[in-house]
Amino acid sequence: MSTRFYNTINRKKVEFEPITPGTVKLYTCGPTVYDTAHIGNFRTFIFEDLLKRFLVFKGYEVYHVMNITDVDDKTIKRAITEEITINELTLKYTEEFMNDIKSLKILPADKYPRATDHIDEMIKMIQALEENGYAYETEDHSVYFRLDAYDSYGQLTQIDLTQQRVNERIINDEYSKDNPQDFALWKARDDDDGKIYWESPWGRGRPGWHIECSAMSIKYLGNHFDIHCGGVDNIFPHHENEIAQSVSATQEPFVNYWMHSEYLQIHGDKMSKTLGNYYKISDLISEGFTAEEIRFTLLNAHYRSKLDFSLKQKQEARTTIQRITDFQQRLLELKDSSETESSIPDEFEEFVAALDDDLDTPKAFAIFFGWIRSMNKLLDRGEFKFSQINGGLDFIDKFDDLFAIIPDAESIPQNIYDLIKKREKARLKQDWKTADKIRNQLYQEGWLVADSPSGPKVRSKK
Ligand code: AMP
Ligand code: ZN
Repeated sequence: MSTRFYNTINRKKVEFEPITPGTVKLYTCGPTVYDTAHIGNFRTFIFEDLLKRFLVFKGYEVYHVMNITDVDDKTIKRAITEEITINELTLKYTEEFMNDIKSLKILPADKYPRATDHIDEMIKMIQALEENGYAYETEDHSVYFRLDAYDSYGQLTQIDLTQQRVNERIINDEYSKDNPQDFALWKARDDDDGKIYWESPWGRGRPGWHIECSAMSIKYLGNHFDIHCGGVDNIFPHHENEIAQSVSATQEPFVNYWMHSEYLQIHGDKMSKTLGNYYKISDLISEGFTAEEIRFTLLNAHYRSKLDFSLKQKQEARTTIQRITDFQQRLLELKDSSETESSIPDEFEEFVAALDDDLDTPKAFAIFFGWIRSMNKLLDRGEFKFSQINGGLDFIDKFDDLFAIIPDAESIPQNIYDLIKKREKARLKQDWKTADKIRNQLYQEGWLVADSPSGPKVRSKK
């Protein structure tokens, strides 16, 4: 089945076809490491993780680059306020970010290039733009992109640059420009920058934010690659400007698919540092959330819908995950190791089709949980084949390869599984005497078994 993604540049869902069959080159805008990332940022990073896991599931080899923005206005200001070097500041928050990524089971990128390690590449790109007539130097020795020279500006955002509203957003810049809409490629050092600057053909200064992503994505993924992601606030001006610079510098197409995730909100407002309405991952852990519960909460809406966060969502996540683990446990206990055949349920195909349709997680979850309900009914009635048990376990494994929301199971030794399975068979035949005998035997071995509507639950006595 073909995969369709909503491509921001087309304003609709389109069939996904990578440039090189079998391989996907993916660039995701990474964190600005001037502070701890909040769960709004992680909504976007977890959406990107789902996208990547899905592409891997579809059989693609994914080469993923996520940049670390370690120089911009915010990092410079913060380092100066805290009286530490920019490197000390950004290393601290990069390390925190990497720990959060790991604890949230986000698959690591193949490369995490830091902007400050790529100043040379950025300078070369700006020089190429100057040579092609797309950039000019101002009196203060900053360099700007000349929007008038690039006819296709606004394709991603579908904006009309004559609109006053847009002009006002871009005009907010302190440098002298030929046209207020031109944006900075290189910013000349000013007194507020202290000792934070790099040498360049235009004198001391630092790169603009947009050129960072153009230079690093092109260096690691080539001039033309498959997918570029971020949150919707990256669409304009960041991604629009990336396209303008990259296409003008290389004279080649830049990115085929632009995918953006919607905001995580609090009481209807975007979660952001500026508004101060945010939670960090560590805040949620202190509130008792597990990594899996955080993942479920952030994935429990379509990535293109706004999602309102509240601490109350922990309970919903907990109950939902418990429903899966209880069911998984029930299947494991019924599993017969002599049965090797696995019949994957029909619902699996529908589940994949939902994800093929622009990662429709709400639909995929509804199919998955509907399947669990109907399987539980079959198991209650004893009307199942062992190949269905194997198929069911395979479905759960595949589900978790994609969403990573099932906690690592308590490891139950094989002899205990065998006993539980024997007991379950006795119960199905209403042989209560044997069932009780096995329960006692399990107790002697250090395991407690409790029967529930969704089957027996086992845990160690410790
Ligand atoms: P930043 O560290 O500000 O560069 O942001 C890192 C990523 O988080 C970017 O892709 C942003 O678009 C995304 N982001 C920021 N705030 C939110 C939010 N409230 N909800 C979803 N994504 C966000
Ligand atoms: Zn970026």
